[in-house]
Amino acid sequence: MPATQEEAGVVGRYTGPACKLCRREGEKLFLKGTRCLTEKCGIERKAYAPGQHGPSPRRRRKVSEYSKQLREKQKVKRTYGLSEGQFRTTFDKVRHLPGVAGENLLSALETRLDNVVYRMGLASSRKAARQLVRHGHVEVNGRVVDVPSFQVRPDNEVGVTEASRDLTSVRASLEALSRGVPVSWITVDAKKASGKVTERPTRDAIPTVAQEQLIVELYSK
Ligand code: SF4
Repeated sequence: MPATQEEAGVVGRYTGPACKLCRREGEKLFLKGTRCLTEKCGIERKAYAPGQHGPSPRRRRKVSEYSKQLREKQKVKRTYGLSEGQFRTTFDKVRHLPGVAGENLLSALETRLDNVVYRMGLASSRKAARQLVRHGHVEVNGRVVDVPSFQVRPDNEVGVTEASRDLTSVRASLEALSRGVPVSWITVDAKKASGKVTERPTRDAIPTVAQEQLIVELYSK
């Protein structure tokens, strides 16, 4: 039986329980903000795939190459909260750029505006960051940008608009900022709820755990 809407063939963005996705991939994808750091984390409580009635007995099953590639693609796509179409479009845009295709893909995902807002600590999850952007609370170089997929370029300044700085969710995220692990390619000014992308991130500056070459292999078939 399919474990998620997506696997059941329902198209578009997945709107079911986020923790099911982590349990399906067998690792934390950090989709629910601070809850992911507590013992309430779904994968800590049920460390087995959804749809099972408990941990399955150990079975030696040969995992095909295709299956590994598919799981890796699903994991990365879900980590960044994209639909299949959005993910594929991102890949198609970068596949012919100079450099390593998998690294270019991760770099493009990282420099999406919603991800930059999340990395800056202005929202507790990528989903919350996307909402901030969509609702017009985020500006790039002083102008409101409400498109989560907007590609932030080096030297772009990203911040919460002055009128939105006192939003409870932004304040709470900023207060928790010190807990986060900042990335080397973004500088943050917590007082102003803003920051700057200093360079395009290279693979070693992206903390996402992934074997991105498997995704390239999958989409190159
Ligand atoms: Fe995943 Fe967070 Fe849910 Fe844990 S709490 S299973 S990391 S979404």
